[in-house]
Amino acid sequence: MEKLLEFCYTKKYTLKQNDKNFCQQHAQLYTLGDKYGITDLPSIAKQKFRHALGEAIQALSISATAEPTKATKISDILAAITHVYQNTREKDHIRSIVARIPWQSAVLRAHAVVWTNFVRQTPEYALDMSIYSVDKIGKYEEYVEQYTEYNCPTCGYVWSMTHIIVGGKKFRCPDCRKEFDGEVWNGDDEGDKPGSRELDMYHCHSDS
Ligand SMILES: [Zn+2]
Repeated sequence: MEKLLEFCYTKKYTLKQNDKNFCQQHAQLYTLGDKYGITDLPSIAKQKFRHALGEAIQALSISATAEPTKATKISDILAAITHVYQNTREKDHIRSIVARIPWQSAVLRAHAVVWTNFVRQTPEYALDMSIYSVDKIGKYEEYVEQYTEYNCPTCGYVWSMTHIIVGGKKFRCPDCRKEFDGEVWNGDDEGDKPGSRELDMYHCHSDS
């Protein structure tokens, strides 16, 4: 509440980074700001929260042992997530921030019991995380599908790019640096005929 008043008077607030519930306090200021319609507080608190989470995860992952300071950090993060899920609605933007926490496997291994118990008690969070992961995998697959592979006629180097090589221009092998006309590249690549996709010209970097 003290921080809320500080913000109302000064349009900013500061928290001590070594507070044991640093992340959670940012999350609380976000939900309070939203609840009482305090202009600018939700967006400022959200940014600070995102930053605090990132730093907390990074600190945990440097050496993912369950030493006391790290145990404090993980409990702060989990308390922040709990606060978010208890005080916001579905699809609130701050939920997407926590659903995207880049947990590292070493961190999760070091805190396996705490983590597992937490997820069991916070099924909405588990759901958001899985939705986000599935979405991420889908985007990755789309990204991979856009690539076409080309084989260098001379050195056999295989490379891929999102652009389609077309005839009438010269293209250079990224490995042996030999140049060939686009027709040669196309002839070497089965299944990907020029013009079969959006033509996005790849210009030879003749200056390099
Ligand atoms: Zn080559």
